[in-house]
Amino acid sequence: MSGYFKDIQEGIGTAFKGMSIVMKHLLKPKVTRQYPNPEARFQLPERARNRLYVNMDDCIGCDQCARACPVNCITIDTAKAIAGENIGTTSNGKKKSLWVTRFDIDIAKCCYCGLCVYPCPTECIIMTDVYEFSEYDRVNLIYNYATMDASEAAEHTEKAKKEDERLAAERAKQAEEKAKAAAANPQPAAPPAPAPQAPPAAGGIKPPPFAAKPGGIKPPPFKAG
Ligand code: SF4
Ligand code: SF4
Repeated sequence: MSGYFKDIQEGIGTAFKGMSIVMKHLLKPKVTRQYPNPEARFQLPERARNRLYVNMDDCIGCDQCARACPVNCITIDTAKAIAGENIGTTSNGKKKSLWVTRFDIDIAKCCYCGLCVYPCPTECIIMTDVYEFSEYDRVNLIYNYATMDASEAAEHTEKAKKEDERLAAERAKQAEEKAKAAAANPQPAAPPAPAPQAPPAAGGIKPPPFAAKPGGIKPPPFKAG
């Protein structure tokens, strides 16, 4: 019975204790921040790593960023420019030779390591200060940076494929003509190779045979009996 009254007393005591904390903080200034609040954005350090951005005008499709990525979240497809096609140059004067038909970054996989930024020869992939980009659907976190649409990309890919085939056919034809010319004008047989010299006998190198120099030492005169 005493335990029953003790529990009631404890229940009332904890209720009062909780309410006293509420009353204590009721009139104090608020310490929480409303989020999102565009007027009170966090000031990030200058080199903070957040969402990536790719300036496609300067991208040459070299794939170095994709190869550096430890989680394989960058996918790049390119098509070679055909002979005489001018794709333009980058802002640091590098001539472009590849169409970038696809440049996707799956930012949901990105770990913001920044390893893709350093090897870029044209400095066109950079970290921005954008850190609020949550989405309800994961698919929306795959960013497509390529500036051409699917039909244009397919057109460039097809043109590059045909150019590759043409060049391969040209090389095969040249090789065939060379082989025919070689068959029509056979080269004279090469002279036999000289026989290999025997190695010196064991026991060291022998001195060369003696040859008397003209005007050198003469043998003694012959004396009979
Ligand atoms: S920051 Fe790191 S993980 Fe993200 S794309 Fe670049 S290399 Fe990949
Ligand atoms: S390293 Fe730079 S230039 Fe090369 S594909 Fe990546 S973003 Fe483009």
